[in-house]
Amino acid sequence: MPGRLQHRAALVTGAGSGIGLETSLLFAQEGANVLLVDVNLAAAEKAASIIAERFPGIKAAAFKADVAKEQDIKAAVDKTVELFGRLDVMFNNAGIMHPEDDNALNTEERIWDLTMQINVKGVWWGCKYAILAMRNNPIDEAKGLHAGGSIVNTASFVAVMGAATPQLAYTASKGAVLAMTRELAMVHAREGIRINAICPGPLKTPLLMDFLNTQEKRDRRLVHLPMGRFGEAVEVAKGALFLASDDSSYVTGTDFMVDGGLSSCY
Ligand code: NAD
Repeated sequence: MPGRLQHRAALVTGAGSGIGLETSLLFAQEGANVLLVDVNLAAAEKAASIIAERFPGIKAAAFKADVAKEQDIKAAVDKTVELFGRLDVMFNNAGIMHPEDDNALNTEERIWDLTMQINVKGVWWGCKYAILAMRNNPIDEAKGLHAGGSIVNTASFVAVMGAATPQLAYTASKGAVLAMTRELAMVHAREGIRINAICPGPLKTPLLMDFLNTQEKRDRRLVHLPMGRFGEAVEVAKGALFLASDDSSYVTGTDFMVDGGLSSCY
């Protein structure tokens, strides 16, 4: 059976770890060629070597880029088109949760600015250059390739509800990602470009485990989780695959919750 992303080209940011890594593996498994973008080149290269070993025939290349820099994102999109001839799927996933992020009284402006630069501007620029590339995607009906594409932006459950452990800059940044996604989806829907946000709940990845760095902090977060456990990155990757593929052809502008029920329960 052909994969759900057969003949497609994908770019994943933050591909060296957590959600980005698991999603890159899933995209490759479903037939996509993938540009693995990360500020940590060694991690992206490791991801590329896993794909080469597990999925022969799939093209995967590591690319060093800092999503906080517009030129880096442009270069990554250009590289995808150069290597694979098109860009069908853009996963704007890289983000940070700074260990010094705190409440309104304690968060320093430099932490706020850094968080916004990566989490918000990085997604804006990722969308900007993906839209420009997707407009030029060649149509190939025999291969099921159409114009336009799918952009998936990683927001968070904190985009729709307050976090119990204060992280004001992060929460504000993810609210911005969700709001931006909705407007972009409206504006570009008639070009065949779907733009969705995926909103993970608390996951067992380095990003959150480094932030909740004591058992007490983890236990405090666990109290709020209906399933009584942190999620796995691969559980979010499966949602990202749905949004990336034609399985979600009538879905755009959504906040796709993969949060173990957190946002629906009290
Ligand atoms: P992670 O720390 O496991 O992986 C993040 C990856 O992004 C790393 O490889 C890192 O090197 C890369 N990265 C960081 N800054 C970058 C930059 N400026 N440019 C390029 N690459 C950069 O984190 P994760 O848990 O997989 O998080 C991925 C996304 O999911 C983030 O946007 C995060 O905010 C979001 N998210 C995570 C959780 C969670 O609980 N882990 C929950 C909701 C949302």
